[in-house]
Amino acid sequence: MAKEGLCEYLQSIGEISVTRRCTKCKKKSEINSPTNSNSKDWNCEISHEYNFLKCRFDIACLDNNKIIFGIEILNTHITGNVGAREGIEWVELTASDVIGKLSQKNVPIKLNFEDQKSVKCPSCCQFARTGFAK
Ligand SMILES: [Zn+2]
Repeated sequence: MAKEGLCEYLQSIGEISVTRRCTKCKKKSEINSPTNSNSKDWNCEISHEYNFLKCRFDIACLDNNKIIFGIEILNTHITGNVGAREGIEWVELTASDVIGKLSQKNVPIKLNFEDQKSVKCPSCCQFARTGFAK
């Protein structure tokens, strides 16, 4: 339901922005879905393989058959196979949030969601790798 609805929304009229908060420094960042063009296509249930790891995106934006953006709809289970998703920008949204926003009377052409993923911002990742304080 949430999956098909959001996919249709993205394919036809809409775009989304997703607010992500760093788990360490709490800094917010905004991730925007790719804008539509003739070469881009939104699809449900797209399998993907990376470094022999497999995963499946609930929704993916393809550009010339290459995944450029992924969306996971969180129902009850936590997204697995995170390693297979490396190199692709993807976000995790709750099903109830998606359904709630898509069932508004006049759905705006841009919807904002909160990312459910636990991730650190680039500078906190940098710190974790090198140990250098900023
Ligand atoms: Zn941070």
